[in-house]
Parts: sequence; structure tokens; C-alpha cells
Amino acid sequence: MINIAIDGPSGAGKSTLAGFVAKELSLVHVDTGALYRAVGFYIVKNKVEPSNAEKVVKLLESLNVDVEYDSNRKQHVFVNGEEVNEQLRTNDVSMAASAVSAIPEVRSFLLDLQRNIAEKENIIMDGRDVGTVILPNANIKFFLFASPEKRADRRFKEYAAKGIDISYDKVLEDIIQRDFNDSNRKISPLKQAEDAIPVDNSEMTEDETKKFILNIIKEKLS
Ligand code: C5P
Repeated sequence: MINIAIDGPSGAGKSTLAGFVAKELSLVHVDTGALYRAVGFYIVKNKVEPSNAEKVVKLLESLNVDVEYDSNRKQHVFVNGEEVNEQLRTNDVSMAASAVSAIPEVRSFLLDLQRNIAEKENIIMDGRDVGTVILPNANIKFFLFASPEKRADRRFKEYAAKGIDISYDKVLEDIIQRDFNDSNRKISPLKQAEDAIPVDNSEMTEDETKKFILNIIKEKLS
């Protein structure tokens, strides 16, 4: 089985990159952030405060998260049987996902689901703890990052293109908050695996990052 891990902070371009590599090499792209977002979505939908760990854990009892991959290998996330892909990308859901991902029960709730997919398919999986916790034996690991300002700029443009009304300053503030949450949580914090290849794409275009990573993967898999 091919297992490639891409970890890094929010907005570094992990998903775009993993999607590209998946297409080029016929792998399944597992976007683990979408699973945390599915939990965040359910929390928001049920009007539970993401910081209230006790209520969040209680709510997990009535939550079932599932994923399917279509013939184009696109990931579809289901919350209690309903596809929610389109509803996972709002800022509210992002912030809720970031907050609940610090709760140990939420992480263990999603762990087996992630490992089971990696056992069945040739995959490239992106997230925060793929190389360190979910797939410590992945064939190749990357740690992708860029400055908070560059990442905020990219996210801001994505939101604008979708017609989501939010200021650049708010996007930057949220990126910094999520970096803090991700790096400082006690369980599975965002951290570069010792055997991961660090890639700082602050000064790289999307195309340059894609070529750079693809070349390394092709070399390592050959
Ligand atoms: O990558 P994305 O921004 O979609 O992830 C949403 C949130 O889920 C992140 O802010 C992060 O806190 C959390 N996450 C995580 N572990 C992962 C993937 C995402 O804690 N493997």
C-alpha cells in the first residue's frame, strides 16, 4: 500500500496539493480536516458551544461520520447519512472544528476511520497528525507550511471568490488562533514528524509547490 502523509498548519495548501498528487498518481486523497469539520458542523448545527467538552462528547453518541470516494476519487463526507461537503467550508465550522479537535474523545472518535481507509487504499492523506499519529509508518511524509500572512491572503481570496464576506484581518486573526489551538493542544498537536520533509511554500507558487512535491514522491516511490 502507498501511504503518503502531508501535515501542516491551516491554509498552507495541503488539500490542493494532495488532490493534485492523488490525480497524478491515481491515489485516493483523504482530507482528514473535513472529518473534524464534520464534527464541527454537527456541533454548530446542534448549537453546542465547541468549548464545552462535556456536551461535545455527549453529542458524539448521536453522530455517525462516514466517507465515500466516487469514481473520480472525490471524497464525500456524510453526517448521519447526509452528505455535508458543501457545508463544511464556512468560517463558523472551521473555528468549531479547530476547537473540538483538541478534545481527546473527538480525536479517538475519528482515528479508526482514518486508519481503516489507509489500510484499504493507496492514499495521500492530509491533516495535522498524519505523519506523527495516524500513519507513523507512512512511506513518505511532508510538512507543508507558509507564513501566517501568506496563508491568510490565500484563504481571503478563496472566501472572496465564493462570495463569503469576511475581512482580511479577521481571516488572519483566525489563522493565528487556529495555529495556536493546533500547536498547543495536549493531544496530537501540530508538529513536524522527525522523518518528514519540511516544505516552506511562502515564496513558492502553487505550481512550483506541486512540481517540487511530485518530483520527490516519484523519486521515492521508484
Ligand atoms: O485542514 P482543515 O482546515 O480543514 O482542518 C479543520 C480543523 O481540523 C483544523 O483547524 C484542525 O484543528 C483540525 N484537524 C486536526 N487534525 C487533523 C486535521 C484537522 O486537528 N488531522
